[in-house]
Amino acid sequence: MDMMNRKQIDGQRQMDFAAKFNYVREAGTPGEEKAAKFIRKELESFGADSREETFTFEAFKMKKASLAVLEPYEKEYAVTGYARCGSTPEEGIEAPFLYIENGDDISLSYAKDKIAMVNAPVRKDMYEKLAGAGAAGFVSIAGTPLDEGEDLIPRAYNLPKSIEAPIQGVSIHYKDAAEMVTKGASRAKLIVSQEKEERTSRNVIARIGGTDKAEEILTLTAHFDSVKEGPGAYDNMAACAIIMELCRFFKANRPRRTMEFIWFGAEEKGLLGSQNYVKVHEKELAHHQFNMNVDLAGQLVGGNVIGVTGAASICEMLTYLAHEIGIGMITTNSIWGSDSNTFAWKGVPAMTLNRDGFGMHTRHDTVDLLSPWSLERSAVLLGHIAERLANIEVMPFTKKIPEEFCRQLDEYFNS
Ligand SMILES: [Zn+2]
Repeated sequence: MDMMNRKQIDGQRQMDFAAKFNYVREAGTPGEEKAAKFIRKELESFGADSREETFTFEAFKMKKASLAVLEPYEKEYAVTGYARCGSTPEEGIEAPFLYIENGDDISLSYAKDKIAMVNAPVRKDMYEKLAGAGAAGFVSIAGTPLDEGEDLIPRAYNLPKSIEAPIQGVSIHYKDAAEMVTKGASRAKLIVSQEKEERTSRNVIARIGGTDKAEEILTLTAHFDSVKEGPGAYDNMAACAIIMELCRFFKANRPRRTMEFIWFGAEEKGLLGSQNYVKVHEKELAHHQFNMNVDLAGQLVGGNVIGVTGAASICEMLTYLAHEIGIGMITTNSIWGSDSNTFAWKGVPAMTLNRDGFGMHTRHDTVDLLSPWSLERSAVLLGHIAERLANIEVMPFTKKIPEEFCRQLDEYFNS
């Protein structure tokens, strides 16, 4: 992208686009579906054809979650149930209550047949430890002592898919957890009731056919779903705006290689959109050369990191290109917790452009914190990288994914 082309990238236009999506877009909800329609409408406005690829996923509807202290005082606390951990008997589980802090082995050895409370969200390892210790149920602590009002509603968590779920659990707010321990809660009743349901999510895809190297494919990707806690402007509508701006650019400046722009659904549910994409397009993956993903972008206070899951030489190449355009960034050669991982897992070298910032996965992640200045710079940086790779005679790096990353990716996707 030279100085002339750079003028075709407009931060304010990106900002205006992102501002249209200041609502929650949790995967499988009407918010996500509405956002997909708006993305397609924007593509249509500059003559880019698009398609939608839908897929279904398993979700859990929480019917009831409650935690009541029975002794030495009686009080019911506001809690949120853990999804994917099954249901207690209808009347609930009554058991002694015990706070086991970080769930160290000493504390855990006292958890048998008790409702055990731990500090951090319960993930796979801690869940297995709690179940292994014979806990009757679990409570995890969320939030901070500074929270007020709606922030006192404890966060929701999911257990990972691969888990057998013999015990149930809930999330409680920090302040309530502190009260329970301070007042010496010693006996409690836990109720969790949930139902499986199938939901539909979708990817929006726009392809710009290449000229003389059309059989080689580059992807520019960003997820457009949000978590249910907030409207996900920084995570990740800003990135959606960046690749939309680049789609507009390449529509007007046709590349030699084919460029596929993908707005993924259900990333926040475990990279489901990208996993559906590589499944549906499995036969075509041999033609894919590089995935350029963007996840977390658009805030002013922050810096750019490009996580490269592929040969280390790609980091050097990207650094060289960033020097050419004069926009700051650093690289990390590692796997990355975003849709780029899915491509790398399937043998396509991939990167995620990431900008650190404030408020991810909270209600504070709104468009108010986005900046046209930041959006424009990121789009120019990524646009420069994409334009060079789209038009270069031969792709300047090996497609081979280092063994160590393959191992880590297998573990990532299989746990
Ligand atoms: Zn994200």
